[in-house]
Amino acid sequence: MYYKKLMDIFTTTDIEDIFPKISINTFDNFIRAQVMKKQRYISPYKFAYEHNITVNESVKFFMYFTGDDNLFEPIYYFECSRPSCYDSRIYLDINDLDRFICDECGKKYKFETIQRYIKVLFKLSDSLDLPKESKKITKKDPNSTYEALKELPPHLKLESPSHSASQQSFTSEGDELNPEEGVDLQLVMELNTKNDGTSISPAVERFKEAFMSLEEK
Ligand SMILES: [Zn+2]
Repeated sequence: MYYKKLMDIFTTTDIEDIFPKISINTFDNFIRAQVMKKQRYISPYKFAYEHNITVNESVKFFMYFTGDDNLFEPIYYFECSRPSCYDSRIYLDINDLDRFICDECGKKYKFETIQRYIKVLFKLSDSLDLPKESKKITKKDPNSTYEALKELPPHLKLESPSHSASQQSFTSEGDELNPEEGVDLQLVMELNTKNDGTSISPAVERFKEAFMSLEEK
């Protein structure tokens, strides 16, 4: 199920054209490492640090795996401004976007007040059962970019520059990142677009539409 999902995304979308450097195994290993650390949320910030890509690239990459029985369930929240609230996160439900109330202190918020502060987390879907053994994935499609790259002479492959030196510092910084820090909704909505202008994650697109309709009220 999990591997089928991963394979489906890598073979049926344009993800490999946009991210030729990131293989299924790379992403699989990253997710596994987070699950081993008992992380509830998979952080695009951490993925960006560990794989030497920008946060924007990482968030766009995550869009391919978000929503509708995919790997990640998007979780939307903002934080209660009252410092006395211990668990200050207020989670949003796309079907109930008129209600912005802190469960802890009862404070009611207006959409205009919170709209710029909504953040998104990527929760590994509960219905996914991650197999205990990792699987080495080999691609068989000769037309894929992945295969084409493998056949290039080594010096022509797209390697990340200055791999060894900078990687070290990235990793230590990456460990200090809070894995439960969400990404700005505005950024997520912006990056949920393919090169041809269509949206990547239909679930995020639906949230965007619901969000926009509130903006127009
Ligand atoms: Zn509160």
